[in-house]
Amino acid sequence: MKGKLLIIGFGPGSYDHITERAKQAIQESDCIVGYKTYVELIQGLITDQKVISTGMSEEVSRAQAAVKLAEEGKKVAVISSGDAGVYGMSGLVYEVLVEKGWKEETGVEVEVIPGISAINSCASLLGAPVMHDACTISLSDHLTPWKLIEKRIEAAAQADFVIAFYNPKSGRRTRQIVEAQTILLKHRSPDTPVGLVKSAYRDREDVVITSLREMLDHEIGMLTTVIVGNSQTFLYDSNKLITPRGYQRKYTLNTEKQRLKPHERLRKENEPWALQDEEPEKEHQPEKETQKASALELATEALALSSGNQTEPQKEESPVPSGVESILEFGVSPGLVNKKFTAKQLMTLAEVVGEHGEMEYTPHHLIKVQLSTDKPEQVTEQLEAEGFLLLPAGDVLQIKACDFCDGEKYDSIPYVEQLQDELGGMPLPKELKLGFNGCGMACYGGVQEDIGIVFRKGKFDLFLGGKPLSRTAHSAQPVMEGIEPEKLVGIVTSIIQEYEEKGHPNERFFKFFKRVQQVGGFKHRDMAPVIELEPAPCGD
Ligand code: SAH
Repeated sequence: MKGKLLIIGFGPGSYDHITERAKQAIQESDCIVGYKTYVELIQGLITDQKVISTGMSEEVSRAQAAVKLAEEGKKVAVISSGDAGVYGMSGLVYEVLVEKGWKEETGVEVEVIPGISAINSCASLLGAPVMHDACTISLSDHLTPWKLIEKRIEAAAQADFVIAFYNPKSGRRTRQIVEAQTILLKHRSPDTPVGLVKSAYRDREDVVITSLREMLDHEIGMLTTVIVGNSQTFLYDSNKLITPRGYQRKYTLNTEKQRLKPHERLRKENEPWALQDEEPEKEHQPEKETQKASALELATEALALSSGNQTEPQKEESPVPSGVESILEFGVSPGLVNKKFTAKQLMTLAEVVGEHGEMEYTPHHLIKVQLSTDKPEQVTEQLEAEGFLLLPAGDVLQIKACDFCDGEKYDSIPYVEQLQDELGGMPLPKELKLGFNGCGMACYGGVQEDIGIVFRKGKFDLFLGGKPLSRTAHSAQPVMEGIEPEKLVGIVTSIIQEYEEKGHPNERFFKFFKRVQQVGGFKHRDMAPVIELEPAPCGD
């Protein structure tokens, strides 16, 4: 009979945090091989298995003993704390097997059972410090040259990784954590939050929240994991280390903070780590700096060059942002009715957006702007002074009017302006487009929008529930003709309010209309194409 090696990570040390498979594996084994302390931690799960426990430094002999027992036909549980593949026994067992020329098909069976590693168990006791790119670094130089460990700390510190230090200190190894702190301080603020977790989920559990500056004033030992936050990690309520999901937050007009709903947060463009490299920034930065150099700096540089002295090589610019970058998002257009930009407007826009902002030409009568700024008022004031109409981004009411034949058909303009003043930009369950056209030609496609209004013979026609996009696109349903001008705004307002109140989050207006069957007293009629079309979302 062939034996089996069950390589088990039993998690931080409490029964509640051992996986079901790990418990089963311990129970189905004939013998258990592990470090004494670990065997004690899982004592309650051991029944009649033979236990082979050895000291801390006898890992190799433990692995060899385990392999030998398996070769004799035994089911052998090799236990590690946390995860057996993180500074644990699994690699070692495989190394012993490889040395013996083991092959999966012919040799003993091997199953590696995952466990909760210290980086995860300790993080859970600290709040949410490991939210972004993180790494583990073991400070044990027992089998790894200290020079290499130093290099890894340096690299991780430089690249702004959250770091979990394993094996930070032991009775005889005390220097490493001190040197690690020195390296970190070269790249990170002394106020960077640090968590020291000793014996997570074990009897003598101890959690200390400190900072990079003060971390060495506390006890750190063999059973401690040291978690160092990144440049964005902050302390909350004096005992929570929280690392934000990224380095940017997006916001729009009239909103203080990023106002992303759960479904929006899941969009790719809102995942900060999905954003493109910011190459241009690097290219242009030095140029700007040269321009700003003072006369003294220029003179010093010239002197150094002429006397043949090399100026100090420019320190490479750190890629780590100095703070959370705030991206302001909004739409600009020359006006509700006016469709013509002036050259001066475009120049002002170009200046405001700068080299690093973004202007996107959209199908919605507006240019979408994204730029990095903490002073939104300054940006909006400058654009408004130039006569731009600014519109918030996101799920809001957007009014799209025609140009009223260059303003010649002006009769209905006051009504669209009133709608814009009273309702334009209001937050809704989903973006809502209201098309407003000044004559029966409706050449700006008002009838294709969520809500369409067409002025004709001194009165208004109303259309509801257009579906402008996709292969199953359809026009809006004509619900009423000849609305008296003074009634228009009231009717439209009550329809939009109904949608605001009763629409599900993310529900487009045409879907809402179909679901509730009646809006503003108007009954729904299906405008979808009669021919069955297979749904074909983007990418299919
Ligand atoms: N395989 C283990 C790591 C073994 S190395 C795992 O995946 O977690 C040993 C180091 O792990 C210790 O020095 C300590 O830094 C960390 N560690 C393991 N268990 C821990 C616990 N319960 N609480 C805090 N740190 C722990």
